[in-house]
Amino acid sequence: MPLLDWHGAQHCDHTGPRPCALCGKPTPLRSHDGEPAHKVCAEDWNDHHPDAPRHLHKGHDRGTVRFHSDAPKKES
Ligand SMILES: [Zn+2]
Repeated sequence: MPLLDWHGAQHCDHTGPRPCALCGKPTPLRSHDGEPAHKVCAEDWNDHHPDAPRHLHKGHDRGTVRFHSDAPKKES
């Protein structure tokens, strides 16, 4: 499983840490979808759900398949 490249500044939200969607601990990192997540947590999730779409809590569908390295979408 390739590691994610979240080193770009776009993956770090300067508004401050938010609870990781996967482990609940604070993280400044954001996924491609703007979802708070640690890089290691996202890689671990990818490892264990190789073909699954991402579903967040309460069945809300993030509309994405796995975590990847794209920069987060801009919220407007
Ligand atoms: Zn985490």
